[in-house]
Amino acid sequence: MYSSLLTTKYKPQLGIYILVLMISFLFYSTISQAGTTKNIGTNLPIDDQYGLVLEPTPTVNFRFLPSNTAMRQTEQFIEQSPVLETIKQLSQKRFVFSPALNIVFGSDDGPLFDPITNSIHIPYQFVNESRQLFKNKGLFKTQREVNQATEDSLLHTLLHEIGHAYIADRAIPILGKEEDSVDNFATILLLNDIPRGDDIAINSADLFALEDLDTDSFDDADFVSEHSLDLQRYYNILCLVYGSNPNRYQRIFDELSASERKQQKLRCPEYFAVINQGWLHYLAE
Ligand SMILES: [Zn+2]
Repeated sequence: MYSSLLTTKYKPQLGIYILVLMISFLFYSTISQAGTTKNIGTNLPIDDQYGLVLEPTPTVNFRFLPSNTAMRQTEQFIEQSPVLETIKQLSQKRFVFSPALNIVFGSDDGPLFDPITNSIHIPYQFVNESRQLFKNKGLFKTQREVNQATEDSLLHTLLHEIGHAYIADRAIPILGKEEDSVDNFATILLLNDIPRGDDIAINSADLFALEDLDTDSFDDADFVSEHSLDLQRYYNILCLVYGSNPNRYQRIFDELSASERKQQKLRCPEYFAVINQGWLHYLAE
C-alpha cells in the first residue's frame, strides 16, 4: 500500500523533473548558440569582415573660380590651407550632406549660403580683407601669426555658412536669430572637434573686435541687421570658450570691468553647457 502510494505519488514528480531537465537543456543550447553566433538570418556585413576600414566620402565639394592677378596669392593661400581638409573630415561624420554641399571660392558676393543652388560662396576679397585687418591693426607681430589668424577666421566663417546649410538641410527649428545660432554652431564644432579649436575661436572672435574698431558710430542699419553687432559676436564667442574650460581662461575677460567680468564668469559655463548640448543634439556622432 505504501509502496503503491509511493509509486503513484512519485511518478508525476519524476516526470516533471525530467521535463524541467529537458527544458533547461534546450534553453541552455539556445542561449549558447545565440552567444556564439552573429547575424543569423541577416545579411548585415560585419565591419572588419575583410579587414577593410570603410572611410566615408567627404560630402562637400570645393571649387575655385579664376582669380585676377591681385587675388592670385589669396587663391593659392586658400588652396594650400589645411582648413579644406578639416572641413572635408567634418563632412564625413559631423555634418553629412546628401547631395554634397558646394563651396565656391572667388564669388563676387558673400560670404553667404545660397539655398537655391545648395552652395556657399566666399569671395577672395573677403579672405584678403581679413588678412589686411589682422596685419594692419598690429595684433600679431609675425607674418606666420597673421596667416594663422587669417586661416582660423576662414575656418570659422566656413563653419558659420555650413551652419546655415545644415539648418536648411535638416529643417532644424530656429528659435531666435539664425545668425547667432550658426556662430554658435561654428564655435561648438571648433571646441569639440578641432585641435587648438579654442585658439581658432579666439582668433575668429578677434576679427569681429578688429572690425568693430573701424566702426565710429552706429546707425539704424546696424540695429536692424540680421547679424548681432561685431562686439556682441566677439563676446559671445569668448563666453563659449570660457564656459568650455573656465580654469584655462581665467584671464579672458580681463578687458571688462570687475562687475562685468564677474557676471560673465558666473553666466558663461551654464551658457556653454546649454548651447553645447543643443548643437550636439543635432550634430551626427
Ligand atoms: Zn550668416
